[in-house]
Amino acid sequence: MIEIVLAGRSNVGKSTLFYQLFGVKVRRGKRPGTTIKPNQITYKDLIVTDLPGFGYISGVDKNFNERVKDFIVRYIEENADWIILAIQVVDGKSFLEIAERWEKRGYIPVEVEMFEFLNEVCPKVFLAVNKMDKVDDPDETLDAIAEKLGMLPPWTNWRHVIFPISAKKGKVENLRDAIKNRLMEIGRSDLIPVLRRN
Ligand code: GDP
Repeated sequence: MIEIVLAGRSNVGKSTLFYQLFGVKVRRGKRPGTTIKPNQITYKDLIVTDLPGFGYISGVDKNFNERVKDFIVRYIEENADWIILAIQVVDGKSFLEIAERWEKRGYIPVEVEMFEFLNEVCPKVFLAVNKMDKVDDPDETLDAIAEKLGMLPPWTNWRHVIFPISAKKGKVENLRDAIKNRLMEIGRSDLIPVLRRN
């Protein structure tokens, strides 16, 4: 068995991206913050897992937010032996603002923490920077995001890790190709059909 996981804060567009990549509409809980169960699809011996959205959700019990984070960490640790790729999805429009808000309060932003964790545990990690259609100064924004996540700008030196996309507009070709290449790299080009063709 092998596995690809998608992780990201709530509302970054993870379900929209999941659909664009795999052609499967993942069911979402009616209200955010009510379910922890991940959504999964399988293709042959590949599982693709859409992990529950983490991070503070307004109106949701703090305790629940902590439980979601713990669930994700435990899930990834338990499945680490067969996870071949983790994709962390962030919102290009709000990432910096949210990260800086937490830093000012003296906390490490949860998305920074998650990216470090994924890199420690998973053999390959991609950063999908979504909602690029809403970003006015893409290069500047991507440089700043890269830097926050420990990658020395310019972001263009990290094109094998950082994928600016717009899931809503269907602009995910760069990320799709990278997933395809990853499957080929591990000798599993037979799994490429799991990706939706456009
Ligand atoms: P999730 O909570 O991470 O699964 O996020 P959803 O996929 O439900 O998307 C959250 C919101 O962001 C929805 O209103 C989407 O239409 C919107 N969204 C998703 N991707 C994009 C994108 O690429 N650009 C823009 N502008 N909005 C997006």
